[in-house]
Amino acid sequence: MLPVIYSDEFLDHKTGNYHPEKPERLTAIVNALKEAHFSEKIIWQSPTAALENPSLMPMLAKVHNPDYINKVKNIALTGGGYLDGDTPVSPRSYDVALLAVSAWLDGVDAVLSTQNQAFVLARPPGHHAEIDTGMGFCLFSNAAIAAFYALQQPGINRVAILDWDVHHGNGTQAIVETQPQIAYCSLHQYPCYPGTGRASERGFYNNVLNIPIPPGSTIAVYQPLFETKVVPFLVNFQADLLIISAGYDGNAADPLATMNLQPEDYGLFMNYCLGITRKILFGLEGGYDLSALSQSVVATIEPCLV
Ligand SMILES: [Zn+2]
Repeated sequence: MLPVIYSDEFLDHKTGNYHPEKPERLTAIVNALKEAHFSEKIIWQSPTAALENPSLMPMLAKVHNPDYINKVKNIALTGGGYLDGDTPVSPRSYDVALLAVSAWLDGVDAVLSTQNQAFVLARPPGHHAEIDTGMGFCLFSNAAIAAFYALQQPGINRVAILDWDVHHGNGTQAIVETQPQIAYCSLHQYPCYPGTGRASERGFYNNVLNIPIPPGSTIAVYQPLFETKVVPFLVNFQADLLIISAGYDGNAADPLATMNLQPEDYGLFMNYCLGITRKILFGLEGGYDLSALSQSVVATIEPCLV
């Protein structure tokens, strides 16, 4: 069985008619999971309401600057606006972004209670959001907040974040690179948005591993990188929880990048991760071709249910 944490409220973060990070992304994934042959093994779980989650605001404030949190809130309260040219805030976006963080925290709880995987199907995504800045479709740094939250739980001393979104998670890295108990590993197209993620960026404690990959690469490029870099780095870190910033814009069909992965390739990524630990929390980041995105999430979840 696999808990998938989802709410229709995540559709209420409105980004406009022509924005790739649109509510239909989640609808496509939900439909694909309901049609998958393993659908009866999915436990659909609603996220804890923001007001009922006592950990939410303290954890948000641990990662983000209070002025920034208030800025997002005020833009939403005053009818909406933009954090940058790519990153709209609609009237309900602040509440929805809080619910997304709450869902990621619930995901940590689910993994720690079952010692097994959980998938957070939320938006907005988070890995570009920095301490005091939202950018690249991201409002709050969901994965980093989840990592800080996990470290407060009994028996959790080290948390690793693997980011296979095609873009470098500049926000996650900026937040966790000063934290010796958190490792961050990213595979990303380079050069590409946001321009960070050089291999020379190693974190304050050698706790960051960036793997820049040339545009157009296929699984034939990714697979040896998992075997020689990603897996050894994560095994060596000995994390008590693995968080995956699961973005699917590395697909050949994706309109925002020019990698050449296929949906089934994410099942291979997953098998490498399951070889490291069973305690894996997935959270959705990017992925903008609805068909490739939803097939990729199915391919990610399938090996968890074998
Ligand atoms: Zn991305």
